[in-house]
Amino acid sequence: MARIHHIGKDLVLAGDAAGLVAPSSGEGIYYAMIGGQEAALATHSCLLSGNSKDLQLACKRFMSKHKTVFRVLEAMQNAYYKSDDRKECFVSLCKNVDVQRLTFESYIHKKLVTRIPLVHLKIMVKNLLHLSGLVRATT
Ligand SMILES: Cc1cc2nc3c(=O)[nH]c(=O)nc-3n(C[C@H](O)[C@H](O)[C@H](O)COP(=O)(O)OP(=O)(O)OC[C@H]3O[C@@H](n4cnc5c(N)ncnc54)[C@H](O)[C@@H]3O)c2cc1C
Repeated sequence: MARIHHIGKDLVLAGDAAGLVAPSSGEGIYYAMIGGQEAALATHSCLLSGNSKDLQLACKRFMSKHKTVFRVLEAMQNAYYKSDDRKECFVSLCKNVDVQRLTFESYIHKKLVTRIPLVHLKIMVKNLLHLSGLVRATT
């Protein structure tokens, strides 16, 4: 749905067809279901009003709920999926219990989960150490 505007004014897409797969994780089932629901609601509005602009509601409503998660996952993908070395760093980072807990809770609740600031600080430092190459990936 993020691409509706590029495709046309009288077409609404959902799921993989709309490119709604979460970066980093490749998770698309949940987002295809929610996107399909939003597409149906927007189509209903469009049929009632006769105004094809109502189809854009699908994208707006979807993004209002999931934009932050998609942006964060995209930033992670851009940082860690550049090369095999970076991917190894990502795997190494994921050994950390705090990272696992945050990732799992965010995955379950479909939103970014916050913890005490010290945990976020520790994760940020670990990220910087890995990305700068000061810490090497361990297997
Ligand atoms: C190997 C793999 C593993 C994955 N693992 C996960 C995972 O663990 N968790 C997760 O959330 N996501 C996962 N995904 C992504 C997830 O499968 C997709 O994001 C999700 O299925 C998208 O749903 P969809 O309804 O948009 O598309 P699809 O599920 O692909 O449904 C599209 C349907 O349209 C049909 N179709 C295509 N063309 C036509 C046509 N011309 N006429 C009629 N029918 C047509 C197809 O046969 C298909 O049944 C994985 C994907 C792959 C490839």
